Formats: sequence, C-alpha cells, structure tokens
Amino acid sequence: MQEQKEIQVVEFMIKLYCKKKHKCDNLCEQCKELLDYVKERRHKCPFGDNKTFCSNCKIHCYKPSMKEKIRQVMKYSGPRMMIYNPRLAIQHISETIKNKHQQKKEKKQNAKTQK
Ligand SMILES: [Zn+2]
Repeated sequence: MQEQKEIQVVEFMIKLYCKKKHKCDNLCEQCKELLDYVKERRHKCPFGDNKTFCSNCKIHCYKPSMKEKIRQVMKYSGPRMMIYNPRLAIQHISETIKNKHQQKKEKKQNAKTQK
C-alpha cells in the first residue's frame, strides 16, 4: 500500500475517533501525537510500499502504548468508515483482501521451493 494512501486512511480514522470520542474538531494533543507517531513509523517501515496495511503487518513495530491507542481507533473507526467515507473504506478493504491473497500465494510458493 502506498504510504500516502495509508496515511490518508489512518488520518481519517484518528480524526473520526477524536471528534466522536474526545469531542474535538481538530485533533487533540493526544491524537495528534498518535498520528505523528503512525506517520513516522510508516515512513521508516522496512517493507515500504510493498507492505500491507499496518494492522495486517507481520512486524508490529509500534510501541505498546501506541499500539493500544491505534487499536482503539481502528476498533472504533474501522466499521464507521463505511458510513463516513465508503470510498476510502472500500479501497482499504480491497487492499487488505488483495494482500491476503498475495500472502497465500507466497506461502504456497515457499512450500513448493522447500520440497
Ligand atoms: Zn483526541
């Protein structure tokens, strides 16, 4: 997934979460920190654009406190994205599915080469 696209999804989720949960129109300090953290981690991700969405990633590179926060955000905003931004949500879902297929394929290929 492209870095820019992924950030777009995450940013949307955090903003939605903050607006509903913290009643902020603009991101509060806490959520801004989370978004900055996500951006930084994503930028440093060793998989680059070839990788899956961070929530599906094999390596969980987030530190525990941030991981917990983003988990909360995803849990809250994930299902709601369909309502507020279906286009982005569908993009994200199709990207996830595509990636799962890809992973399966790779597994099969690995199994073959190991024989
Ligand atoms: Zn907030």
